[in-house]
Amino acid sequence: MNDQFSAQPPPEPDPAAVGARPSSATGIRAITHSLRIALQQMGPRRTMSTLLNANQREGFDCPSCAWPDPDDRSVMEFCENGVKAIASEATLARADPAFFATHSVVELASRSDLWLDRAGRLTHPMMLDRGATHYRPVSWDEAFGLIAEELKALPTPDAAAFYTSGRTSNEAAFLYQLFVRLFGTNNLPDCSNMCHESSGYAMSRVIGVGKGTVRLEDFDLADSIWIVGQNPGTNHPRMLATLQAAARRGCRIVSVNPLREVGLERFKHPQEIAGVLGSGTPLASLLIPVRVGGDVAFFKGVMKRMLEEDEREGGTLLAHEFIARRTDGFDALRADLLAEPWDGIVERSGVSRQLIEEAAAVALASRRMICCWAMGITQHEHAVANIQSIINLLLLGGHIGRPGAGACPVRGHSNVQGDRTMGICERMPEAFLERLGAEFGFKPPRRDGFDVVDSIRAMHDGRVRVFFALGGNFLSATPDTEYTAAALRKCRLTVQVSTKLNRSHLITGERAVILPTLGRTERDVQGGAEQFVTVEDSMSHVHASRGVLEPAGPDLRSEVAIVCGLANAVLGSGTVDWDGFRHDYARIRDRIERVVPGFANFNERAEAGFYLPNSAREGRFETDSGRARFTVHPIPEQRAGNGDLLLMTIRSHDQFNTTVYGLDDRYRGIKGGRRVVFMNRADMEARSLASGDLVDISSHSLSGERVGRGFQVVAYEIPRGCIAAYFPEANVLVPVDHVATGSNQPASKSVVVRVARSVV
Ligand code: SF4
Repeated sequence: MNDQFSAQPPPEPDPAAVGARPSSATGIRAITHSLRIALQQMGPRRTMSTLLNANQREGFDCPSCAWPDPDDRSVMEFCENGVKAIASEATLARADPAFFATHSVVELASRSDLWLDRAGRLTHPMMLDRGATHYRPVSWDEAFGLIAEELKALPTPDAAAFYTSGRTSNEAAFLYQLFVRLFGTNNLPDCSNMCHESSGYAMSRVIGVGKGTVRLEDFDLADSIWIVGQNPGTNHPRMLATLQAAARRGCRIVSVNPLREVGLERFKHPQEIAGVLGSGTPLASLLIPVRVGGDVAFFKGVMKRMLEEDEREGGTLLAHEFIARRTDGFDALRADLLAEPWDGIVERSGVSRQLIEEAAAVALASRRMICCWAMGITQHEHAVANIQSIINLLLLGGHIGRPGAGACPVRGHSNVQGDRTMGICERMPEAFLERLGAEFGFKPPRRDGFDVVDSIRAMHDGRVRVFFALGGNFLSATPDTEYTAAALRKCRLTVQVSTKLNRSHLITGERAVILPTLGRTERDVQGGAEQFVTVEDSMSHVHASRGVLEPAGPDLRSEVAIVCGLANAVLGSGTVDWDGFRHDYARIRDRIERVVPGFANFNERAEAGFYLPNSAREGRFETDSGRARFTVHPIPEQRAGNGDLLLMTIRSHDQFNTTVYGLDDRYRGIKGGRRVVFMNRADMEARSLASGDLVDISSHSLSGERVGRGFQVVAYEIPRGCIAAYFPEANVLVPVDHVATGSNQPASKSVVVRVARSVV
């Protein structure tokens, strides 16, 4: 029964309406839109109690992105997309046993992702028996019993994979990795493998840390802020207020992005009269429409120009003292840049020489420079080269290790960075495994485990037979949708710990279990005492989060309680006092303090919050040489030619990761639909296509052809040869073997495809 239906979101009945893009982001529309969704989902009382506690010191951390909270918080310390995430979690709708009795798995699979999300909060442990058509309610003990039976029956612990989504708290993540390593494997794929794996990989090798080196206060000092491959208007909306403050004091904001994002053009602050009634604040003063995959060429052009100017000015423009004292590899970079022909730079970047020179002028004029980036940079085959090119640019000006300057990979999920810090990674440093083993009296496995892409392959070829997901929507978040679906369906058992229904509950192993968990907005009472958890934001600030709402149902359990229940069932209570941890999270923090660097006096400092140490921020480069490293990267080969196009997958404004809150993408003029493809007018004409036409998009790799059908063409301002479409709809086109060199991160931002009129 289980493989009769497609794993992709179904086509929409009606075409999307396409209108003009607005001239500014946020403003009154953000208020009305958020309020409408909040009241619809939560009603007035819950709307008040949740929004007044969101991102407050005594409240809960927004379950959406990882943008930090300012010290001086406003009473409404949230954005439109934060409201959507909170409303989605705190909805009054319920997907309870009666719901599952009414809806078969096949019928649910025919529903849109929005419909599935709107079904409501999961309330009971549910099980899908072998060959069954419907999920049925089970007790927690029966659920844990089945999972333990399947795990213990495996020929090796490496035949199981344990996934983590970035919403998981530090406390749950720490216990989860402990349980998994006690079970005997390092198979800990996590969503970081798909978002900033390339950042960690690239940065740690050149400046000795894999995390951003700036804090919020640095944005108050920077002369220029570069936003590369990031769309903060939709994905980190409170960042716009930070950029507005910077722009108002004359800081130059440079946007490097194939798409012209309204959120980087003009911002209307919804908590300012001028923002609601006025025309808003211009943000980016320089827009660089780099072509998809053209970032290395662009940054080489900027640095080449800076070098030329510096040499024209007798070596007075670059940070030569810093370069000489603190870095290696400058001469090789200099030689490579001076030898790089301008024609190739302009052609491959897709950016005019004049714009490159303007950008170089901004860089040379900057005493303090911050570079921020996101998936537009990290999801490419040459992602590591992209990121190290940005680091090269920062090092040329000495912009790492001093106030107002530095590197800022902006994390997409509220605790994705914290989970990695807690040990959620398939290859943790030896020192971490040593300390963990010493603290809990066992020998953690040393074999590298499977990350996301390796886990998919291992499930597909039968090496992994049990898949356990702590949160998330693995199927929809990962590449190669039908291949990944086939992999999941080959498992004996798939388990999802979730708050809401999603497509991963419908693409299952022979048997499947859903374990309903508390949301971030909900009170977590264990052992008669209210507990709080901690998270780490994009800028390495660790802080507490405490829910305010009554749980969505009496049968929900916290992530910590679920991990402890699972561990007791699989390993037995003799190994570790799992119930002790369950009843008092402070005891978990005591152990974290002894295993994870930077968490001294964790319990004392957790409520006020604290920053983790960052050697590069403090001016120390923990590389092999103790110096930062310039790197030389060739401009990547042009991959799309002869009618091919380069596809990048993107989010709409009514979406967070794979969670769909609505069918509109207000900032791009799209209404009522998601199956759209943004195309350059000249590329449309070359294929005799008009706006509104339906096309099939196909990609080819060694492992065959993939086709996404029925995308509606939308004429858009995007460089020639490049197209964009939303994920998860376009993930079917991203081959599982299309990954970033080094980091193994899915390269969803530059997939070679062909577009042809749909054959109906
Ligand atoms: S900026 Fe991010 S963390 Fe802040 S409220 Fe918005 S979605 Fe939530």
